[in-house]
Amino acid sequence: MNLLRTVASRALPRLSGPSVRHFSAAAVPVPNTQPEVHYNKLFINNEWQDATSGKTFPTINPSTGEVICQVAEANQADVNKAVKAARDAFRFGSPWRRMDASHRGLLLSRLADAIERDAAYLAELETLDNGKPFAVAYTVDLPFVVKVLRYYAGWADKCEGKTIPIDGDYFCYTRHEPVGVCGQIIPWNFPLLMQAWKLGPALATGNTVVMKVAEQTPLTALYVASLIKEVGFPDGVVNILPGMGSTAGAAIAGHMDVDKVAFTGSTEVGHLIQQASGSSNLKKVTLELGGKSPNIVLSDANMEEAVEQSHLALFFNQGQCCCAGSRTYVQADIYDEFVERSVERARQRVVGNPFDLKTEQGPQVDQEQFNKILGYISSGKREGAKLMCGGGVAADRGYFIQPTVFGDVQDDMTIAREEIFGPVMQIFKFKTLEEAITRANDTKYGLAAAVFTKDIDKAHYVSNGLRAGTVWINCYNVFGVQAPFGGYKASGFGRELGEYGLESYTEVKTVTIKVPQKNS
Ligand code: NAP
Ligand code: MG
Repeated sequence: MNLLRTVASRALPRLSGPSVRHFSAAAVPVPNTQPEVHYNKLFINNEWQDATSGKTFPTINPSTGEVICQVAEANQADVNKAVKAARDAFRFGSPWRRMDASHRGLLLSRLADAIERDAAYLAELETLDNGKPFAVAYTVDLPFVVKVLRYYAGWADKCEGKTIPIDGDYFCYTRHEPVGVCGQIIPWNFPLLMQAWKLGPALATGNTVVMKVAEQTPLTALYVASLIKEVGFPDGVVNILPGMGSTAGAAIAGHMDVDKVAFTGSTEVGHLIQQASGSSNLKKVTLELGGKSPNIVLSDANMEEAVEQSHLALFFNQGQCCCAGSRTYVQADIYDEFVERSVERARQRVVGNPFDLKTEQGPQVDQEQFNKILGYISSGKREGAKLMCGGGVAADRGYFIQPTVFGDVQDDMTIAREEIFGPVMQIFKFKTLEEAITRANDTKYGLAAAVFTKDIDKAHYVSNGLRAGTVWINCYNVFGVQAPFGGYKASGFGRELGEYGLESYTEVKTVTIKVPQKNS
């Protein structure tokens, strides 16, 4: 699925390809701008519970800065309860452990159906809580969520081991068994998608889950919890906890009875998760962290395509993407034209009410991110980058920021090195391919990269030289549910999606049986 293609047109999203056939352009509904919130408590053991402490926290509509509702705030005691429920659900002989693998797949498939049924409502709720344009939530996030769950539903009864010809009179085989109780900590930039990316492989392989959702965007995950119950997952298999990272998140990461933790978020917190594993029970850790992904445009590239894709590579999802193409390297002889066209494109970007179907860019997720991004824009100006457009606040309330483009960016500037996570594009000039590869790799991150060129030899040469988990050639943000995604270096480790995404959710058990050589 090309995440960018669907949002490329100004009016209704242009849709194509089989990946979005259940949600056609003509069918984008007029959204209800005030969707009702049905669930705001903790979901433990298939029940809705208040926090043990009785505490709640507000979730905010980033378009207005107003409180949508209060949500129960999980702490250590609630994490303990959820882990106990997940452990009980995982005990040997439990309904979940005895369930046919094909039936686990059926439950995941039914969950996908229920989400598809309620897609319009879920997209409305996502827009309300996160601020992403409804048209994007409905045509990009929701179809991808459904596809992920269906894809992993298919894997449930296909995780096969091997028979192995070891030396001696033995029969040896492997079983791929679930890891156990999986802690999953997800961010706010793609709340529904991150939930599906995590639940799909964990449940397909028979694990149980304690998931902490981001404090900024708890609402859609809780609605999905109600669907998990509706379609018949046994008690305790999935537990969903809204709460703070420093309390509930840390309690999961350091828990002695959690077997694995999967985290998506900042590199800073990634370090803490890894440390918590080391100082508790050495639970397995997978991390999907930040990036500062290079996007290299060679002088022979199709200019129009390269400008549009580079624009969307950075500005998609309000610039709040871990894989955002946030360092655009342009070859010297086309640099001026590329910058001019990119500025023109950024100026045309439609920023505003995310429920308006024409809107391309909604608000940033919260005040903290808003302030942080404005701080980076100031530092860009201060350190001598050339502000070509934008640079300011885009509305008198809510967390809207103007699409911003910096030219003449130097590699040592703060905006060239740190993840901005906002609608701020940095354009650099380079001369040779070797120089581009060296500079592109001069970062602690290694999540994604792209190259635009018509020359297939150059494309492969650059792609092979880039130290990143994903390389796009003449495209950007193309995700296939069947293809793995994850980082090199400080962008994390482990892969999500595809068959590779199953690996970190299974233990391999080797079983060896003595085979007598004569009947006695
Ligand atoms: P973050 O703190 O890393 O948040 C991600 C998740 O981790 C949230 O659920 C968060 O909980 C939780 N968390 C925070 N502290 C924790 C701890 N000590 N132990 C366990 N879990 C913890 O990210 P953020 O503060 O929302 O955003 C900061 C920056 O991170 C962004 O500017 C961006 O650069 C990066 N980021 C990257 C991604 C990505 O997709 N890789 C996504 C989001 C942000 P609460 O939010 O509920 O406190
Ligand atoms: Mg919110």
